[in-house]
Amino acid sequence: MRCPPGTDRRILVIDESRVSRSLVREHLQEESVVIVEAENGRDGMALASRERLDLILMDLSMPIGDGFETIRQLKDDPRTRAIPVIFLSAESASAAKAKGLDLGAVDFISRPFDPVELKARVRAALRTKSLQDALEEQAHLDGLTGLGNRLALEERLLADWNLCNRRDTPISLLIADLDRFKAVNDQHGHAAGDAILQQIASVLRDSVRDGDFVARYGGEEFVVVAPDCDLGGAISMGERFRSAVGAMRTPTKSGHIVITTSVGVCSCRPMESSPGELLGHADSALYQAKSAGRDSVWVNDRGIIRASSPSRHGDGA
Ligand code: GH3
Ligand code: MG
Ligand code: MG
Repeated sequence: MRCPPGTDRRILVIDESRVSRSLVREHLQEESVVIVEAENGRDGMALASRERLDLILMDLSMPIGDGFETIRQLKDDPRTRAIPVIFLSAESASAAKAKGLDLGAVDFISRPFDPVELKARVRAALRTKSLQDALEEQAHLDGLTGLGNRLALEERLLADWNLCNRRDTPISLLIADLDRFKAVNDQHGHAAGDAILQQIASVLRDSVRDGDFVARYGGEEFVVVAPDCDLGGAISMGERFRSAVGAMRTPTKSGHIVITTSVGVCSCRPMESSPGELLGHADSALYQAKSAGRDSVWVNDRGIIRASSPSRHGDGA
């Protein structure tokens, strides 16, 4: 989990001794960090897997889940792998330090530690974590629109899929592809096309609920993942987006550019399908929207593809 900008960094101190934990807390109190504590590796691991953390300071020898065992688990779990770990230990043997670093720790501080050194090492680890967070964020963003990119979509679809599976709620997916967009580029130039893509990204963001995830899937294709959303909700979302795009007017010297979009939606209960199938189903509905003349929302309702508004496109059979 990445640290949102402007929020305090969160540090987990794992140490059996309450006195030692308090000492670390005291030394770091002026560092604008939030300290959370665990008294053994097992509890620390559980906490790290459910909360956002930026650094773990961990004692090496603990009766339940010693430091080496715990760091192995932290580095094995995708939810906790990216959290830097600094070992705090009375152990001064080089072999132990080397083993800790080889297992993935970023630093090793010998006790009794000098508070000035502790603070400097913590700041250094947090600086590196901030840079990693920024790179990670960059790798998930579409540069033109600021929406999620394909990698972000894959990760989010899986996470929302698992969430809806646990809650036994429906999950919906929308794919939109702008109509005859090549002609817009050909007539008005690529820069105008780019500006329209940015505008449409913002229209799409405004068409979805909080908690829905919006990505640019490809050139002029967009995807929304909507957890806890049934087919009716997905159709409304698709119609909202379609009509908002149709209402956009982009002025040029030779008049307004009007864009339309074709949309495919579908919804399922995670137990009945798979993320790949959900994407495939929405894509088939989109394909039908294109074949039927564009500027419409089509629905894949458990394999039966139909127009969302039968009055405009017949029953779609
Ligand atoms: P259809 O209705 O069948 O989808 O027609 P289309 O012209 O939208 O489809 P096609 O796949 O032939 O062309 C997609 C066009 O989208 C091609 C390209 O000019 C444009 N496009 C893709 N990515 C970008 C981009 O990043 N910026 C701009 N300006 N245009 C892009
Ligand atoms: Mg396309
Ligand atoms: Mg297109």
